[in-house]
Amino acid sequence: MTKEYSIAVLPGDGIGREVMDAGLAVLQAVSPKIHRTFDARAHAAGAQHYQESGDALPEKTLAACRAADAILFGAMGLPHVRGADGTEIIPQLDIRFALDLYAGVRPIRTFAGLPIPLSDPRAAAIDLVLVRENTEGLFYSRGRSQQEGDEAVVDPMRISRAGTTRICDFAFRLAERRKSQGRPGHVTNVDKANVFHSMAFWRRIFEERASHFPDIESSSAYVDAMALNLVLKPWQYDVLVTENMFGDILSDLVAAMVGGMGMAPSGDIGDDYGLFQPAHGSAPDIAGKGIANPTAMILSVAMMLDWLADRTQDNALADGAQAIERAVARSFSSGAVIPFEFGGSSNTADITKAIIANL
Ligand code: ATP
Repeated sequence: MTKEYSIAVLPGDGIGREVMDAGLAVLQAVSPKIHRTFDARAHAAGAQHYQESGDALPEKTLAACRAADAILFGAMGLPHVRGADGTEIIPQLDIRFALDLYAGVRPIRTFAGLPIPLSDPRAAAIDLVLVRENTEGLFYSRGRSQQEGDEAVVDPMRISRAGTTRICDFAFRLAERRKSQGRPGHVTNVDKANVFHSMAFWRRIFEERASHFPDIESSSAYVDAMALNLVLKPWQYDVLVTENMFGDILSDLVAAMVGGMGMAPSGDIGDDYGLFQPAHGSAPDIAGKGIANPTAMILSVAMMLDWLADRTQDNALADGAQAIERAVARSFSSGAVIPFEFGGSSNTADITKAIIANL
């Protein structure tokens, strides 16, 4: 009997819905090739749903995420839809906390055939993964801001031993896996240990954990120096691990290094659940035009299959992930499609069609 996997699908808002259609089309196209089927069901959540119902993340949707084998997420949030306190509706953060998806995993690599912003030819070898701590750090302050009348607001940052240990271990295990595939096997810790006690504590734990992974090299850098080096010599990094807010900022920076948000997939992974989504947001400026680059979403589908393969020891899923990655690479290296984002004229449908044809 063909094995079936249940996928909870949260298309969300703006281009989230458009790229999700593309991702699901690729998932269904790969399915017969690996003899696995996917029961992908869509569930409501997001800013538009909040506008319609007053609930950005229904309990029913969270329950469906918990019941599924994996979660696919488009993008959520619309600038004009805001809660009572003036902040945007961002249920993706609530999902991360609710399902304890502590590791934000953002792989970045270049694809032959697409222009990259850095002119140094070594930039063609960019192949790194940014691992962002997702559940504490400065984002811990969400809902915990201390308001001092109308004079000041204090947002606390939390770095815990347990939270830092598990994210550092995640990064080291990822580096081990990448090393077994021929990559350098190096974890770079990014912090600001020279200023903040919390970050000095983070660094101490990183160094403790590094001693448990003797086959993996490790080093530490301050986040300001890292911002510089990621532009000057990004090709020299393998796995980076950092606190939540630094990770939020650096993940957009690394996406830009390979040409744009439409190329950057991501996974939000915990011990019990995995959610996969493009690193970009709902992009209201281009929503509804059919020109969003669906590659980040499609590569997120590949990441999901890889993660599921690891969890279930079902190698057919890993084959599916590789087939998708190869099809993406071939679609661009052949020059068949160039996304709008890169100054080309291939729209969402053109890119999806090319990738499916190359599977
Ligand atoms: P968020 O804070 O919700 O992550 P953001 O403020 O980072 O969102 P995005 O929605 O990611 O903003 O968009 C940033 C820019 O990148 C916009 O100009 C948008 O049009 C562009 N962009 C994002 N995703 C894509 C895509 N898939 N294809 C083409 N352009 C994109």
